[in-house]
Parts: sequence; structure tokens; C-alpha cells
Amino acid sequence: MPAPRLLLVIPCYNEEAILELTYSTLCNYYRAIKEAGMIAPESKFCFVNDGSRDQTWEIIEKLSKQDEQVIGVKLSRNFGHQSAIMAGLESQVESFDCFVTIDADLQDDVQAITGMIEKYKEGARIVYGVRSDRGTDSWFKRTTAEGFYKVMQKMGVPVVFNHADFRLMDRRVLQELGNFREINLFLRGVVPLIGFKSEKVFYSRLERQAGETKYPLSKMLLFAWNGITSFSTFPMRMVLYFGVFNFIIATSILTYILISYLAGYTVPGWTSTMLPLAFFSGSNMVAIGLIGEYIGKIYEEVKGRPRYIIDKIVNE
Ligand code: UDP
Ligand code: MG
Repeated sequence: MPAPRLLLVIPCYNEEAILELTYSTLCNYYRAIKEAGMIAPESKFCFVNDGSRDQTWEIIEKLSKQDEQVIGVKLSRNFGHQSAIMAGLESQVESFDCFVTIDADLQDDVQAITGMIEKYKEGARIVYGVRSDRGTDSWFKRTTAEGFYKVMQKMGVPVVFNHADFRLMDRRVLQELGNFREINLFLRGVVPLIGFKSEKVFYSRLERQAGETKYPLSKMLLFAWNGITSFSTFPMRMVLYFGVFNFIIATSILTYILISYLAGYTVPGWTSTMLPLAFFSGSNMVAIGLIGEYIGKIYEEVKGRPRYIIDKIVNE
């Protein structure tokens, strides 16, 4: 097999504090593996500016003028991490053999790409970067993140445990990925659905080298909720179970009321009226809300709006 043409896709949202360091780290790494003949000389980087409000795009543009390895993709506004990745991948799918997506903050170990390329050369079409330890994460981040993967797996979403969006895909996989038309694309759930031979590479996750996380708790929860409702109807089924459970309770309360009535001690009880009323109207609201959540999703998808809009591409 000839050395593959590799494209690294790096989504960037307000990353001015780290971008140059990221670039020079990747650049040194590329120089080494190009010299070793591991990847083709035409291999490049694609920095996707996801509507940053700082100097991110200016830095990308500057790098693209200095270095012909750098392709810059500018989105017209902030579309989110997943869409930024897709914009980078889809806009370059024809020109490369394999693609690695990596965060801009150097938390994913660049050296692990070597392992990915080796697995690719051995025939894997997808290689997942999996964190072997989370020593550098805070207790809170670790617990919530691992809880997230466990809940997802319990609900039947085929996510790879402790794998985020650091992965290698080849061109074929990317073409198939393009056929998943949903707008709210949750890549960690979708990629395993594509199939083909896949492998894992383990690495330890490093600390963010500069700048702050672009995923505060609110965004993290939204991301998790999106992942769950995009893949699993389990919450809806829970509502059904809950309804059945309520129905059984209601029936027993009804029996109790009837027996009391027949026995003749019918003191009009405020509690026994209000309690079930509150309980059942409350659970109805929950159920309706949850159904609304799914209808909202259908609404989003049915509109068929674009996932992202590219403003311009430099140095293609
Ligand atoms: N990111 C993006 N768009 C967004 C949010 C984040 O492109 O709306 C990028 C960000 O620049 C980074 C990657 O997604 O390259 C992961 O974000 P971050 O490192 O902040 O997440 P964390 O590692 O804290 O979960
Ligand atoms: Mg990060």
C-alpha cells in the first residue's frame, strides 16, 4: 500500500490562545511522519473556524499563507463542534485517503495518530481513539462523562466507551457517513452504525494546553440529551411504563374509594382527592413534555436545513 494522503480536521471555536501552539505541534509531528514515509507528502491540515468571535480565523488565514499544508474553512456562524467537523470532512473528501479529527486544544495525544495509521494500513476503516485514563480530568468531569457513556450504552446507543471525537476514518466511511442525513448529527453514535472493520487506539488524555473549555456544563448536558434523544426511544418507553404503573396505582386507589363508599364511611377526604390529582396531572405533564421533545426533533429534521454553511475556504 502506498503511503496514504492524510487530512487532519481540527474544529476551532475561540481558540486564539492555543492555535499557534497546536499548529506547531502538528507541524512537527507531520514533518516526522512524512520523513518516515508513513503518510504521503500531500497530507494536510484543515482548520475549521466555527464562527469564532476572537482572532481564530485571522490566525488560520495567516497560517494558510505561510504553509501550503494548511487549509482553512470558515463557517458563516457558530454551528457547533459536530457540524464543524462535518464541514471540514465533507468539503475535502475527494482529495484525501484518510481523515483524522482532533480537538484544537491538544488534549488528544497527537502521537496516537501513528497507531491509527498503522491500524488503517492493516485494513481498519475506522480507528477510535479511546482514553485509557482520565487522570487529568476533574472528578466532576470524569464522573459525568463516564456516566454519560454508561447511560448511553444502557439505552442501546452503540457508543464506544471513553471515545470522544478523536478518530480516523477512511474515504469510504466518510462517503457513507454523508448518507446519514440528520442535522443533529451525533457522531459518536452514528460512526459505529456505519460498520466496516474498526479498531481502537488507546491514549491518555492530556490537560488543555491553553484557553478554556468550550463545553461548559450547560452545553455538555445539552449534548448528552441530544445524543440520547437522537438515538434512543428508551425515554419514551419509560413514559409508557410510568403510565402503566400510574394506572395500577389509580386502580388500587379507586378500589379503596369504592370499598370505603360501600362500607359507608365516606368522609369526603380532601387529601385523597388532591393527592392523586396532583400526582397524575404531574406525571401527565412529564409524559407530554417528553413526547414534545421527540416531536420537536422531528420538526427540526423535517425542515431539512443545512448542517452548516461555509463562508469560504482558503488554500484548498
Ligand atoms: N468546538 C467547536 N464549536 C463549538 C464548541 C467547541 O468547534 O461550538 C471545538 C473546540 O474548539 C475544540 C473542540 O470542539 O477544538 C472540543 O472542545 P473543548 O476542548 O472545549 O471540549 P472539552 O474537551 O472541554 O470537552
Ligand atoms: Mg478539550
